Formats: sequence, structure tokens, C-alpha cells
Amino acid sequence: MKLVVKFGGVPVKDGRSIRKAAELIIDRCKKRDKLVVVTSAMAGVTEELATIARKLVAPHANPKQLIPEFMKHISNKHFEACRVAIADKEVIYQATRTVRDTLDNLQRVLTGVSYLGELSPRSQDLVLSFGERLSAPILAGAIKSLGVPSKHLTGFEAGIITDDRYTEARPLLKKTRKLVQQHLNKILAAGEVPVVTGFIAGTEDGVITTLGRGGSDYTASILGASLGVDEIWIMTDVDGIMTADPKAEPNARVIEVISYLEATELAYFGAKVLHPQMIKPAMELDIPVRVRNAFKPGHEGTLIVRKPKRTEKIVKAITASKHISLITVGGAGMIGTPGVAATVFDILGQADIKVLMISQSSSQANISFAVDQKQLDAALRALRAEFAKRQIDWSITYDQNASIIATVGAGMKGKLGVAARVFNTMGRNQVNILMIAQGSSELNISFAINERDAAKAVHALHDEFRLGKGR
Ligand code: ASP
Ligand code: MG
Repeated sequence: MKLVVKFGGVPVKDGRSIRKAAELIIDRCKKRDKLVVVTSAMAGVTEELATIARKLVAPHANPKQLIPEFMKHISNKHFEACRVAIADKEVIYQATRTVRDTLDNLQRVLTGVSYLGELSPRSQDLVLSFGERLSAPILAGAIKSLGVPSKHLTGFEAGIITDDRYTEARPLLKKTRKLVQQHLNKILAAGEVPVVTGFIAGTEDGVITTLGRGGSDYTASILGASLGVDEIWIMTDVDGIMTADPKAEPNARVIEVISYLEATELAYFGAKVLHPQMIKPAMELDIPVRVRNAFKPGHEGTLIVRKPKRTEKIVKAITASKHISLITVGGAGMIGTPGVAATVFDILGQADIKVLMISQSSSQANISFAVDQKQLDAALRALRAEFAKRQIDWSITYDQNASIIATVGAGMKGKLGVAARVFNTMGRNQVNILMIAQGSSELNISFAINERDAAKAVHALHDEFRLGKGR
């Protein structure tokens, strides 16, 4: 089989796990599979890079203290991982040298950021790219020291070319496909295992871009689709896609098979296992995706395909996205006025606010929408400023702490009474609904509630639709 196998943050969290990942890869090589490996940064590293960059551009930052402290921490972590993950002395030496050069480069970049005192999206991508650039040579070294030739390369070197929307770049698929085939097939033909950095790519001019947080999954599916592999495996630290977040719902269990569309809805609505964009390239070519636990290679995990065999389950999973804010624009002046929604969303679009969910009352007296809590202030500011400028007197109110609950499942399509069951369940449990939207796909019913009710809502719905263990 030809496979793309991606290892996420926790499965490469330290030297020991990296070695385990390498063993799993070797195992597949022995079975004569052709593998392209994608790796994320070591667990937590991308976040640490984001934090240090933010600290360095804060007012009154002290780079003379911050940078050496950070460099010491990050160097120790990766040097230690080299020593533990790699068995062969010579290979440890090579990997350590690559890691050291990359760390020197990172230090220069951080110093540059601190001098500039600002962090453009482009520099942010550059800073965040270091996590994967540090982990890939270690995993490649671990594979090599177990006796299989391996080569590490960046997503850009592997052929992924994107537009220049830094922090959320999108691949230029035609060019990417051609380049990926050229670059990776050569490495595969030489009998080497390519280890590609997830998450990062580059513009046509070679400037580093990233595919958005959690983007290594996306890298895996872009590479898989470009090469036309048999399957794409996402190796993570959970057993697969679950019927609910197991931290909130002890009865949650692994979903065995799910469709591309359901998986996309789930990813979008906060099941953190997959990057929401990652399904599309796989779906276009009908490549099965498997989400598996890297630490339990015997488990099948979740299989994602176009058309799972029918299950009688109406709802497959319940998710809760936290840290959501709701904004309502209202006012009698809005009734019958054309272009209200256009005006509001135009303002938000200009301000780069991502709207997660929209609902408009049929009287048109108000329009509500959900945004990430982090974007609440920016959204309010943009609306107030533009309303003032355009002399619009619509009122703006908001709920800061909301959660969007989504019930997802293809079985809901055309099935009468599902929405009634969902909302009755909420009523019975005294969960107040703040806003409702049904995706036109009928694959999901989602609604917003107060964040403090989120766990209760998930639990009640999980029970109502009998998603738990032993059902
Ligand atoms: N390392 C990146 C992140 O933390 C990408 C990934 O893990 O998929 O967002
Ligand atoms: Mg992830």
C-alpha cells in the first residue's frame, strides 16, 4: 500500500514517542508499504513559539532575558529528543547538528522580531514554522537509526506551494500536485522514507507560509491527494473520532466509520481531531482517511470514506465549541430594509472577522451571529465605527460566553422530528437556547447556549441519541 502517515503533536511529544513513531513506520516498511511521513512539531512547541513571539512585541518586553531563557528551554527539549529517539551515534550527531543550525536560525528570527517590535502575519508564520523544522530531522534520524534510509524536508521542499494568505494559506493545487509528485516520487524511488514537516509550506517565491493551526493534517491530505495514495493515516493520541469529547462525556466512544461530510462538519464544529480543510483533497479523490491512536497500533480507529454502510444511528456525534461570543444587531429601523445582512457581513468581512453561525429572525428585526471570543472586541469595534460613519442607528448587543452545540449525522437528513428531539431534550434539562441554525446540508443541527450549560447539553444529547458505550 502507498500511505501518507501523519504524526500529531502528542505522538511526537518527546524522544521516546518519536522512537515509537519510527518503530511503527519501520513496521509498515517491512510490510512493503510505501510511506510518506508527515510530522507536526513536538507537542506544545508551536504554542510556545506563538507565546514567545507575542511576548517579544509586547510593550516593555525584555528580550535580553526572554530570548536566552526560551532558547535554553527549546534547545534542551530538542537535543534531549535527539539523544532518546535516535539509537545510532553518528545519526545523533547529524540530527543534532541540523537541530543546532535551525535553533541558531530561530534565535536570529526572534531577535529580529524583538527589534521590529511588531509581528506581521508573515513573520508569525516564519516563527511558527520552527516547531516542525526542529521535529522532522529528529524523526527522520530515528527512522534512519532503525535501518531504513530517510530524508527530512519542509512542506515547501516537498512541493506544497500556497497563496500568500499568511497564517491561513491555501495550496495552489495544480502546481503543488506536479511538484509533490516530482519531489517525493524521486525520494520514494530511491527507497527512502520522506519525513515532511506538516503545517508549513511556501509561496511561489519561497516565502514560508502556514496552513493554519492544526494544519499538519491538511499537509497529509494535500500530499496524499497529490500522490494518489491508497490511504491517509492521521496518527494521534486518541482512539479515533469520538461520539463526544471524552473529557466531557465519560460514555463517549469511537465512531468506526463516518462519511467525509460528517467528518468535516465535526472538525468544523470543534472536534479537535482534524483540521477542517483536510477532508476536501481526500474526498475529491476518494482516498480513505483513518484516524488512529499512535500508541495503540492494533486499534482500527475511525475510517472516513464517502459512503459508510448504513448505520441506524441518526446522530453520530455531539460537539461543543467553547469560547464563542454572540452578537445581535437589531432595531425597528431594520424591518423591511434591504441589505441589512449584506451591510453587517460586509463590515465584518472587511475587518477579517470569521463568522461561525448566522441566524435572522423572520421579522428581520434582528440578526444574530457567532464569532470566536477572541474576535469579539474587533467585531464590536468594526461594527460601531462603521455604523457611526454611515449614520446607522441599529443597536448592537452581545453575549460574551457562549458555546455552540452541534449534533452531526447524515442519518438526520429527511428524518422528521430530529430537531424536536434535540430541543425537547434541551428544554427538559433547562438549557436555554440563545440561537439556532440548521446547516442546509441537513447533516447537522447547531445552536448556541450559555457556555456554562455546555457539558450538561452534550451529556443530555449523547444520552438521548444513545451514542454511549454498550448501546
Ligand atoms: N504544529 C502546528 C500546530 O500546533 C500544526 C499541527 O500540529 O498540526 O498548530
Ligand atoms: Mg491536530
